[in-house]
Formats: sequence, structure tokens, C-alpha cells
Amino acid sequence: MSESTYRRLRAELASIENDGLYKRERPITSPQSGEIRVAINGASQPFVNLCANNYLGLADHPDIIAAAKATMDTYGYGMASVRFICGTLDLHRKLERGIADFLEMDDAILYAAAFDANGGVFEPLLTAEDAILSDSLNHASIIDGIRLCKAKRYRFANNKMADLEAVLAEAAAASPRSIVIATDGVFSMDGTIANIPDLRRLADEFDALLLVDDCHSTGILGPQGRGTAAHFGLRADIITGTLGKSLGGGAGGFVAAAQPVIDTLRQRSRPYLFSNALPPMLVGGAIKALELARAGDDLRETLRRHARYFRKGLSEAGFRLIDGEHAIIPVMLDEAQLAQDFANRLYELGVYVTGFFYPVVPRGQARIRVQMSAALSTGQLDRAIDAFTQAGRELGVIT
Ligand SMILES: *Cc1c(COP(=O)(O)O)cnc(C)c1O
Repeated sequence: MSESTYRRLRAELASIENDGLYKRERPITSPQSGEIRVAINGASQPFVNLCANNYLGLADHPDIIAAAKATMDTYGYGMASVRFICGTLDLHRKLERGIADFLEMDDAILYAAAFDANGGVFEPLLTAEDAILSDSLNHASIIDGIRLCKAKRYRFANNKMADLEAVLAEAAAASPRSIVIATDGVFSMDGTIANIPDLRRLADEFDALLLVDDCHSTGILGPQGRGTAAHFGLRADIITGTLGKSLGGGAGGFVAAAQPVIDTLRQRSRPYLFSNALPPMLVGGAIKALELARAGDDLRETLRRHARYFRKGLSEAGFRLIDGEHAIIPVMLDEAQLAQDFANRLYELGVYVTGFFYPVVPRGQARIRVQMSAALSTGQLDRAIDAFTQAGRELGVIT
């Protein structure tokens, strides 16, 4: 019986491989940083790392490590409980209050990951009488969260506000009780920033709530790194975010919003109710990371300077980039196999990048997504630009 299932899976895997879409993992043997070591045939070799979400370079920060260790000494290793049974520490509340204060919201609620935050935020708030409008390039976790919710779903073209307006009018015609507009703050594959001024205006016009997933914005955009809406001097109604990127890169996610929203999630959100509480060390580490990120104007300036420098270097070499100002820099190669080959060649040249292709990005839009980090040095960026140029010439991407 089961043999036929295994046979089918093997055939599907072979076809993924044939299409050049197979993803392989490389074991790293060092902390996450601007330079990492990767295990190759038993030895470990150094690489310039251009693909971590370690924007502020906090992933190996000594103060965060010390805070995590100290927390473990005080509170032990794990909670062995969901939050509402016996899994809530004073420290969980301290972090939730800290996130809320940072984002200027009433309250915040922690999840095991932002994937869970997005997976659990819609269903408790909305029913079949409501409507959700979602940007076509939203993260997979938002798409899944919306699937789990009975609200009527609408999709609008990526960051196209005329389309959003038309879809809003269509949704409003059905007289929904509540409308939520959901968008990534920064689109993770393109590095483009959501048009918050128009999203805010349209949300207000249609009495909708604006939900912004700030996973690639928290700590990076806006005053003190308060995120995408703050970057425009505006407010979102609900912010979802991660502790797994700029805020130390550990793990965990959150929703920050008005009190009735957070209270409802605490009562009804399934990934919150039915999954283990965040371990103490992650909470202690995240409290320190939040403090460092808030005060990290110098890190944000380094990140911006790196992004400008690297964009300029690659553009001048002749590469086609998606324009923008964010630390995400997509180098367009179109074909999946080329993106794979390019990433492999850069790897041989000591630069760690990842090729992105279908299903992570649309077919025919394969790319190398470079991500800047404050942990990188200008010397490392120069080495990387040289390697891109060499690989680009060898593979006929540039002349
Ligand atoms: C990374 C990411 C997530 C998931 O975050 P995790 O905390 O790793 O689960 C969700 N949304 C967006 C836009 C992301 O980039």
C-alpha cells in the first residue's frame, strides 16, 4: 500500500530536481555573522554571508548571548506548557509590554514564530460576515492565515493602489461587518516598501483595519526602527513581526495592536492556545535585542550605507536589480537553473548567497536575493562585488 505513496513522492522529488528547483542545505559551523564558516568535507571554510536576515548584525551580539544565558540560569530551559496553563513568565509579559511600547500599540502577544502569528491572527477576529483584502505578494504565512479564516477573501495586485481601491469597492458592496487590509511592510523577495500612505488613506475611507507584516521592517525602517508605517510617519492598526530577523534572529513572533484585538487573540488564537510558550532564554535575549535595536541608529546607518554601496557596485558591473532602498537587494537572473548555477559559482568563490526560484518567486523571475547586514565590512562587500562580477562574466550574465 504505502509503497505506491513513496514511489509517487520519489517521482515528485526527481521532477523538482530535474526542474533545477531542488533546495539543498549547507551546515554552518560558526555563529551567524558577516563572515560564517561552512563545513565542507570535514573542514570548515570562511564565507562572506549575504543571505541572512541578520540586518542589524545582532545574531551573535555578546550582550544578547549574556542576557539569554542569565535568563536560563534564573528561569531554566523550557516552559513545558502553553501560556494559559502554566507557561506565562513575568518575562513574557515584560517582552510583550516592551514590544507594545516600542510599536506604540496598546499591547502585544507572543507566538512561537511570525508564521504562527500570521497563521493565528485572522481567524479569531473575522468570520464569514467579514472581508480580508490581501496583497498578491504577501508572505506565505499571511496566505495560510487567511485560508484558515472564513472571511470573504479578495486579492489586489502587488502594491497597486488603484486595484486595491477597486477591490475595496467590490468588497464594500457586500456590506461586510469588518474589513481588514493585509500587506507585508517590505516585500521579502523584492525589497520594495508597501505604499502605506495610500493604504492608510484607503483603509480610513472604507473604515478598514490595516494589518502590516513588519518582519523585514522592525528594527530597520522608521524612527528607532519602529517599522514601515512609522517610516511614513503613519500608523498601522495591527503589526505582526518576528524575533527571528533583525531582533537577534532567535525565534518567535508577535502581534501588536489595540487591546480588544490582543485580548481576543489570547482567548481564541489557535497557534497561541495550542503551542508551547517561548523558552525563557529566547525571551530574555529578545528583551535585550529590542533594547539594542531601538538604540541602534548607528547600525541602521551602517545598513543603509552598505545597501547603497552594494547596489551601486552591482549596477555599475551591469547587473539588473530591483530598485529600492531596503537592505534586500534582488539580482535578477530569471531562470531557476541559472540562479542555482550562479549561487553555486559564488559559493566556490567564497560568497554565500541563495538562489530563489519557483515556488518562492513566480516562474521566470528567479533571482539571487542579497541581504545587507550591519555585521558586514566594506572589505567583505568589495570581495562580494568582485565575486559577483567574475561569476557574472563566466555565466554570461554581464559582459
Ligand atoms: C520571515 C517572515 C515571516 C516568518 O517569520 P518567522 O518568525 O520566521 O516565522 C513572516 N512574514 C514575513 C513577511 C517574513 O519575511
